[in-house]
Amino acid sequence: MAKLYFRYGAMNSGKSTALLQAAYNYEERGQHVLLAKPLIDTKGASQIESRLGMTREVDFLIGGDDDARALFRQERERKRRDAGASLLPEEPADVACLLVDEAQFLSEAQIDDLFRIAVEDGIPVLAYGIRNDFRTHAFPGSARLLAIAHTLEELKTICRCGRKAVFNGRRIGGRFVFDGDQVAIDGGGDELVTTYESLCGNCYLEESGGRLG
Ligand SMILES: [Zn+2]
Repeated sequence: MAKLYFRYGAMNSGKSTALLQAAYNYEERGQHVLLAKPLIDTKGASQIESRLGMTREVDFLIGGDDDARALFRQERERKRRDAGASLLPEEPADVACLLVDEAQFLSEAQIDDLFRIAVEDGIPVLAYGIRNDFRTHAFPGSARLLAIAHTLEELKTICRCGRKAVFNGRRIGGRFVFDGDQVAIDGGGDELVTTYESLCGNCYLEESGGRLG
């Protein structure tokens, strides 16, 4: 049975790198994959960017109200047609898996779509994302993935103190902030640039003055 996987981690835990590596591993074996991400992520628009400098264009973007399963089926058909033209008889034409970056930004219904792609369409789905926001609450997509994914895998990264990082501290112009919208839109000059630091529970509470959420 095909499964829905949620590979989650704090910011900077190498999720996009892991995703691109997974795609490469499939393709090295002559298999086809589809890559997708939510439309909300304006950074790099339609590309998956790893911090190591690798980038790759996604096959499709999932808009806020889109039916992710319908988009997948459309792309799966296109891939089959494209592959079919140049295939040897023993080569597979179908896609081997769907890889989704920034899955925390998908809606609950879209995560349900991913679940159905795995269970009803029989294609494994590997969703990569951040578990919680800068105020330590789960993103809607992540909450749903944590609830229904068949397999949860943590991608670990280290806090500045050496402990495992589990939170994502938000800085604006270098200063930690603990209020604001779940998704930050960058604007203004350098003094307003939003960055994130992966933090362990101890360092998060130290920076927030004991506040959690
Ligand atoms: Zn720490």
